[in-house]
Amino acid sequence: DYRTEEKIGAILQDVCTLMQSQARLNNVTISLQESGYGNILLYCDKSQMKQVFINLIKNAIEIMEQGGTVYVKLKADTKKVMIDVIDEGPGVPIALIDKIKEPFFTTKENGTGLGLMVTNQLLEKHNGTLSVLQNEEGQGATFRVTLPII
Ligand code: ADP
Ligand code: MG
Repeated sequence: DYRTEEKIGAILQDVCTLMQSQARLNNVTISLQESGYGNILLYCDKSQMKQVFINLIKNAIEIMEQGGTVYVKLKADTKKVMIDVIDEGPGVPIALIDKIKEPFFTTKENGTGLGLMVTNQLLEKHNGTLSVLQNEEGQGATFRVTLPII
């Protein structure tokens, strides 16, 4: 765990670039909306923070079997940043919301069920949280990351 001051916008841009090839293969567009908050600094382990967003964007790409758009939206107030990863897939069934962070829970044929558990652990180490927001029925899922600002 090696922490430095990192711009949240640079982390998100790096991850979106990294995920481009998998997105293109799945007919998915990644739309990053920094809304002017990209220069906000986090005190974090940069590679761990990248892993958090890689896992969420990977899930969003995988769930949209017909392709679509993943929106990565950055918001902030004086104390924290919020990053919403929003997809256009089927959404998370309400009955599964409490299960998806458990290790080895997967609904995928070749899934490991470890991505969200790892994401959640990395965020907890950084005093952050991961929450699943309910979109309208069948209107996709929103995974919200909240992290404290320096
Ligand atoms: P894996 O991707 O290997 O299945 P994860 O821990 O990343 O493991 O995700 C666990 C489960 O949570 C997935 O199998 C899926 O059922 C559900 N899930 C994760 N992301 C999404 C999403 N964006 N939309 C709907 N369901 C999701
Ligand atoms: Mg996953």
